[in-house]
Amino acid sequence: MAKLIDGKGFSEQLVDRLKPAVADITKATGQPPGLAVVLVGEDPASRVYVRNKTERSKAAGLHSAEYRLPAETSQQEVLKLIDQLNRDASIHGILVQLPLPPQIEAAAVIQAIDPAKDVDGFHIVNAGLLATGQEALVPCTPWGCLLLLRDLLGDMSGLNAVILGRSNIVGKPMAQLLLAENATVTIAHSRSRDLPGLCRSADILVAAVGRPEMVKQDWIKPGAVVIDVGINRVPAPERGPDKFRLTGDVDFAGAEQVAAAITPVPGGVGPMTIACLLRNTIVAAARQGGVAINLTD
Ligand code: NDP
Repeated sequence: MAKLIDGKGFSEQLVDRLKPAVADITKATGQPPGLAVVLVGEDPASRVYVRNKTERSKAAGLHSAEYRLPAETSQQEVLKLIDQLNRDASIHGILVQLPLPPQIEAAAVIQAIDPAKDVDGFHIVNAGLLATGQEALVPCTPWGCLLLLRDLLGDMSGLNAVILGRSNIVGKPMAQLLLAENATVTIAHSRSRDLPGLCRSADILVAAVGRPEMVKQDWIKPGAVVIDVGINRVPAPERGPDKFRLTGDVDFAGAEQVAAAITPVPGGVGPMTIACLLRNTIVAAARQGGVAINLTD
């Protein structure tokens, strides 16, 4: 039976380890690291994510500012807010919750964020720094996955890593991070052939497709480590009419029969994403304030 990777517990330890850095920055600059979270529209999942991010930031001693804009907000209005936040000295990290309503081009908004405050790590400057092996603000979800893998495996040199999904926010940066760990990396996507065969070659399998329980037990090499990034809401009639439950991209019950270790959904990658967001905000605040901090993760 696979070991359950406790992302929730790990993320709590990670946040505890961040606390001295928060205190150092606050003492040296006279203000705590500040995170601005921008939400446009009423997407229910986004509202939950934003609320969690704000609450966890406050609990970690950060200054947290939430900007909720109506769904019909224009791109120009969002860009104006970003410009204001770029110049706000109390804000060190800016996060715009995706997806955005159709009238707003996500790329234009992301590129308007000062790269030094881009705590999601989506700006092309940070993507380019990561791709060329330089110090970057790294996207939170893949960074969280990497911390779990490092904790579990230590050295990943020569291991076969297969990543399902090639998005800019998960799949591609995950590949860069695993390459930097000297894994042999394959990225698979909707046009890839023989997904089950590709997955069976993986010592490390990262699933980030957004398809509930797509990865089956017989896709998994015995002894592999499985990181399930997917968060899917599926109907749960057993809980009552109109009720949902969360499930990942991996058939958990099957996978845990063969994998060496697996992240649950919920309680695996999700909490790590938020912990890494706090970490990025603290790193950004330290750089902007010229404060030396010592983070080991
Ligand atoms: P995207 O929709 O941006 O990307 C999905 C990727 O999966 C694409 O590359 C797509 O291929 C590929 N894909 C889709 N269907 C298939 C298929 N049938 N076979 C093979 N590949 C397929 O999603 P994200 O990367 O943003 O998110 C992925 C999942 O991770 C979602 O469930 C999301 O909710 C979750 N997530 C979780 C986070 C967390 O904190 N735990 C944070 C971010 C995301 P193609 O490019 O060819 O279309």
